[in-house]
Amino acid sequence: MQTAQRIIKSYRRKRVFVCVLMAVSTLILTLGSRYITERNLNRERILLFTSHAVSALEKVLIPLNEGRTRLIPLVGLPCEEAHLALRKQAASLQTVRSIGLIQKGILYCSSIFGFRDVPIRELQPSLPSPAPRLLLSTDNSLLKGSPILIQWFPTGDEGESGVMEVVNINLLTSLMLEPQKPLITSVSLTVGDRHLVYGAGVVGALPALNGEKRFKQASSRFPFAINVRGPGASELALKHLPSQLPLAIMLSLLVGYFAWLATANRMSFSWEINLGLAAHEFELFCQPLLNARTQQCEGVEILLRWNNPRQGWISPDVFIPIAEEHNLIAPLTRYVLTETQRQLALFPATPEFHIGINVAASHFRRGKLIQDLNHYWFNAHPVQQLVIELTERNALVEADYRIARELHRKGVKLAIDDFGTGNTSLSWLEKLRPDMLKIDKSYTTAIGTDAVNSTVTDIIIALGKRLHIEMVAEGVETPLQAKYLRQRGVHILQGFLYAKPMPLNDFPTWLASSRQQPPARHNGTMVPLVPMP
Ligand code: C2E
Ligand code: CA
Ligand code: CA
Repeated sequence: MQTAQRIIKSYRRKRVFVCVLMAVSTLILTLGSRYITERNLNRERILLFTSHAVSALEKVLIPLNEGRTRLIPLVGLPCEEAHLALRKQAASLQTVRSIGLIQKGILYCSSIFGFRDVPIRELQPSLPSPAPRLLLSTDNSLLKGSPILIQWFPTGDEGESGVMEVVNINLLTSLMLEPQKPLITSVSLTVGDRHLVYGAGVVGALPALNGEKRFKQASSRFPFAINVRGPGASELALKHLPSQLPLAIMLSLLVGYFAWLATANRMSFSWEINLGLAAHEFELFCQPLLNARTQQCEGVEILLRWNNPRQGWISPDVFIPIAEEHNLIAPLTRYVLTETQRQLALFPATPEFHIGINVAASHFRRGKLIQDLNHYWFNAHPVQQLVIELTERNALVEADYRIARELHRKGVKLAIDDFGTGNTSLSWLEKLRPDMLKIDKSYTTAIGTDAVNSTVTDIIIALGKRLHIEMVAEGVETPLQAKYLRQRGVHILQGFLYAKPMPLNDFPTWLASSRQQPPARHNGTMVPLVPMP
């Protein structure tokens, strides 16, 4: 059996565990979702940045491609004839710095300088080329050292003649490739094996990553790519996480607090009692009451047992006080009434046979007990005598005495349980007019061992006699106690000496055998003991 303290503590531990778990989960979920959102946002930002840069450069290169049909026929024409057309074309394309015509490897006409005679290889070693080419280079003629993009369109198969358009990407670079810190720390444009790095000009190799990450997006229309470098979408999101911590902690504390409030009922022992009632985990036991003189069974006291599948057997001394505290005692008593009524056939069907039911004083309030008896007991018209055992601990309020009188009118007997342990006054007894006094087992135990208490036992018995109240002694364990009580005129005895509480189903067998043999011989051995966990 478990003590109330231990059970309540284990519930509190579970409740604390659940609330902490919910709070921690909220913290993890909040931070996790913030991290994922931020990381995805970072990724989107990087992608948006590179897509913008790629499409901006494509927009520069597309008109160059389109103007090529107008330029190719100019190759071979004398510079005087072609120059005006070249200049017009260069002027129409804002980003184009110059357009040059090349024949047999010689740049012979430029939109800026007019007639020229420079081997193109000297200016750009990879030109001329039989295939169209996009080159990243630096200007060697006008703005020396400034980055340029060269679009080469060959005219014939031999690849020695063609048109060269030079794009000024200096301005474009500062607009397009400017890093966006802290997400993007460096941006570069890659064409072939050359790279234009923002702030560093055209270089042959990209700078080392130094623990950073690189993301590359290539153009689908032209042979170039945009590279961005930065700490990485995930890393940056992780770095920002501490700034989300105060909000996440507040949220998780709030969730923990709500969980604490929400579990107040569910994760309490009273909730468990409700579950037990719903699942019919409570079982009725009964303990016989014997006539002290004839040793015949005159009735039983119904006692609740709880075989809780989660906690094992729980003593009524544990769950009854908790049920009383949480207003669950009335549902428990209703359960006892219903189950006893359902199994009435197990008891002798005579009006002399007593069936004692324990009732808490709180159940007397506002006539609740009368309503419940009407509903769960009298509707079956039981033949047996109902005895309501009311413990002396819980005092009745003035209005409840009327209920006690109403019970009498209905033929219900009233017994004062655990008599001698409370602070009963004579006037209380007179008002209540109980039919029985059940001497508490501590006084029975005192017989023959504790002189002071056994004197009190004598006084209690004398009091009962004077008030003409039937006396019942509980907790009779030895023949000596039984003899003592019998000699002093106690009418009914109850205790392990005769029988321990037994499941209701075992009672008919016990009763049959007790009628065949002297009851003392059973001494509780043939009936099942109170199950112990
Ligand atoms: P109680 O009403 O005083 O019940 C008598 C208690 O004494 C029972 O304990 C019984 O098993 C025990 N007992 C009987 N004979 C002996 C004996 O010879 N020696 C010893 N040592 N004990 C004996 P139980 O069944 O554990 O119940 C404890 C208390 O729980 C009851 O005390 C009663 O106050 C409460 N209880 C039990 N069932 C119900 C119920 O259905 N409703 C209410 N309200 N209370 C109940
Ligand atoms: Ca009792
Ligand atoms: Ca008692």
